[in-house]
Amino acid sequence: MSFRDIKARKTFEIGGKRVNLGSQRTVDLTISETYSGHPVVMPVHIVRAKEPGPVVAVTASVHGDEINGMGVVRQLVLDPGFKLSKGTLVLVPVVNVLGFERFSRYMPDRRDLNRSFPGSGGGSLTARVANAVFEQVIRRCDYCIDLHSAAVRRTNFPNVRADLDQHETRLLAESFGTELVIHGKGPDGSMRRAATDAGVPTIILEAGEVWKIEPTMVEVGVRGIRNVLIALGMVKGRRKPARYQAIVRETTWLRAVHGGVLRFHVSPGDVVAKGQPVATNTDLVGREKNLLLSSASGIVLGMTTLPAVKPGDPVCHIARLDADQLRSVVASLDESLSDRFRDYMASAVSVEEHSESSDWAI
Ligand SMILES: [Zn+2]
Repeated sequence: MSFRDIKARKTFEIGGKRVNLGSQRTVDLTISETYSGHPVVMPVHIVRAKEPGPVVAVTASVHGDEINGMGVVRQLVLDPGFKLSKGTLVLVPVVNVLGFERFSRYMPDRRDLNRSFPGSGGGSLTARVANAVFEQVIRRCDYCIDLHSAAVRRTNFPNVRADLDQHETRLLAESFGTELVIHGKGPDGSMRRAATDAGVPTIILEAGEVWKIEPTMVEVGVRGIRNVLIALGMVKGRRKPARYQAIVRETTWLRAVHGGVLRFHVSPGDVVAKGQPVATNTDLVGREKNLLLSSASGIVLGMTTLPAVKPGDPVCHIARLDADQLRSVVASLDESLSDRFRDYMASAVSVEEHSESSDWAI
């Protein structure tokens, strides 16, 4: 399986501005207006190799509080660590400019931009912004990588999500090179679903937390994008694959049973066995109320970063793996970037070993 042949375009225009082969420039696209009637602009940075080839969009902060992706895009503009030998990169540091202004996931009309694609020119504020982004940017590209982080009060072990039943989105996802690749078309109205439906295969990265530019998450994002560009023949070099790659078709949330304060026994990226202690729920003075056990075997995909919970609050998101997958994951664990970002992410949550959890057989 390989990517389709792209009919390479010599000319590329965006916002009425032409970008020549072998050059780069920033174009301010007007996507809405303020209350004072001034234009709301979304900067787009275009990098073109000397040789034409695929056009790849990298978009970030469709949710205005998820700015790790902005960090990735800034790195790609300033110091990507690779040279584009073919094709065009269309880099959008912040899609949801209006949400970002308020550090909010949502648009000012309280809609979720990432449930509003492809939008419409005569619809709500959010529908019009979605439409402007879709028509002016997404439709001009052959592929798209959309960068996200966990929602507020949670963190995500870096993972790529894609429709794995569509062969080009699967190729993009697998070449990006995160440990976990999670299957799904994406919610109705999400940019990746609408773009893929419109013939622009799109994957998303989910990495880290809101309101932060986390250096290890930026490293993961830049490395993955470089991997994809190598797979597309746009960058020369060798891909840096993850030490393992598990395809995940099912995930499970563990939820708090009682109100209380959690002591975690696992951190993002850990391998967990079914029945293994995940967190101890305590009262305010630290006395144990109950022990939360994992209901599945797999990898810790996401966690709450706020240890105070009420019954039903999400605690831990598990990517389910079967026994064969778990064995190959455990066999591949060694010192690498993944260890560094696992250690870093463990510092964002307070983790201590549970007294009986020393030796869980996988
Ligand atoms: Zn998001």
